[in-house]
Amino acid sequence: MAANARGRFHAPADLHLHSDHSDGTEPPAQVMASAHAHGIRTAALTDHDTTSGWAEAAEAAASLDMTFLPGMELSARHEWRSVHVLGYLFDPDDEAVRALTTRIRESRLTRAREMAARLSRHHDLTWEDIVGQTAVGATVGRPHIADALVAKGIVRNREDAFATVLHPGSEYYVALYAPDPVTAVATIAEAGGVPIIAHPAGRAGLLPSRLLSRMLDAGLAGFELGHRENVQPALGTLQALARTRDLIITGSSDYHGAGKPNLPGEHTTSEDMVARIIARASGTAPVFP
Ligand code: AMP
Ligand code: FE
Ligand code: FE
Ligand code: ZN
Repeated sequence: MAANARGRFHAPADLHLHSDHSDGTEPPAQVMASAHAHGIRTAALTDHDTTSGWAEAAEAAASLDMTFLPGMELSARHEWRSVHVLGYLFDPDDEAVRALTTRIRESRLTRAREMAARLSRHHDLTWEDIVGQTAVGATVGRPHIADALVAKGIVRNREDAFATVLHPGSEYYVALYAPDPVTAVATIAEAGGVPIIAHPAGRAGLLPSRLLSRMLDAGLAGFELGHRENVQPALGTLQALARTRDLIITGSSDYHGAGKPNLPGEHTTSEDMVARIIARASGTAPVFP
């Protein structure tokens, strides 16, 4: 057990979990129960571009005697590539956070409708099929379109859908609005939160070092280095940078329920790093058992 001035928390910690408020398949309370069943004792809910699952997850975590860190995975883009910024313990009522996430979610809706329209020209798929795969109020994304395609027997699973009709190179793909990564980081930081780049060493390779410097200047706290999508040599470069700059490093599963093979606890974050995240934040308090 570790403690700081504000409360106590237990290892192991998994700080990247999705519910059906975005593209996970389980409601927030079930996500906390799944994490607990995999031995997790400190958990963050990090749905894409929404904080709507926080209250349910916090209540479930408390009943399981877990520590809960409210979080979010904010969509950003640099040139052609998507960049995901995890934000922890920011103020969910901050005006800039609300404006930005509302704009992204609205764009996601328009974009999903446009993708549905394009897909319907060649496939037996309607917008209603996608709505049927999306929880009410959830942040809609390509995974919901994938689920509709699976339900219609057009593809086998989400992975198959992402490799074919949902791929950015596909004629059916439409981009969503997303802020640049510096804006994403600054928005979280200015709302009292702790911004960490999610899976920063994925197959797309490293972000340019100039951009990383600007993100650090804007308040970037660290990198999610423990994640199944991170690969060398980018991972080694970021490990070295984190050491030199004394940045926060996290490890997490990116659990999506049945939507991905990732399982809670497959990567975890050290007590020391959880304590640093909590100490750095001023937007929202964690929920301690
Ligand atoms: P979107 O933000 O709507 O463009 O969709 C991206 C989301 O799809 C990411 O959050 C991932 O969690 C999910 N995703 C990406 N690739 C796959 C895949 N191969 N299988 C399942 N989910 C995926
Ligand atoms: Fe996702
Ligand atoms: Fe992500
Ligand atoms: Zn994620």
